[in-house]
Amino acid sequence: MIYQGGCHCGKIAFEVEGELTQAIECNCSHCSKKGYLLWFLPREQLRLSTPEDALATYTFNKHVIKHHYCPDCGCAPLGFGVSPSGAAMAAVNVRCLAGVTPSALTIVPVDGRSY
Ligand SMILES: [Zn+2]
Repeated sequence: MIYQGGCHCGKIAFEVEGELTQAIECNCSHCSKKGYLLWFLPREQLRLSTPEDALATYTFNKHVIKHHYCPDCGCAPLGFGVSPSGAAMAAVNVRCLAGVTPSALTIVPVDGRSY
């Protein structure tokens, strides 16, 4: 299945291919403030349809994940990082995918605050 995602104003748009059944809800200081519900998948399953330089970037902690957000509307639809095995990963905020009802997904709690 292909999902369409993006920010509110349309400056960031992308397609994700995969089967979405669950999302991670992390309780760390950053994820909880943004309300992220994240779907981690291999980077090659996500295709940006807007220019990469439209993405504003926030990093913190060990700076292993680049959290991207829209500089105009402020939505934070995705991030890019590297898995412990070295694979390029994307983290998609399922709240920013069209046609997805987050409450219909299995929400997996992650205790990021304790790391
Ligand atoms: Zn925007």
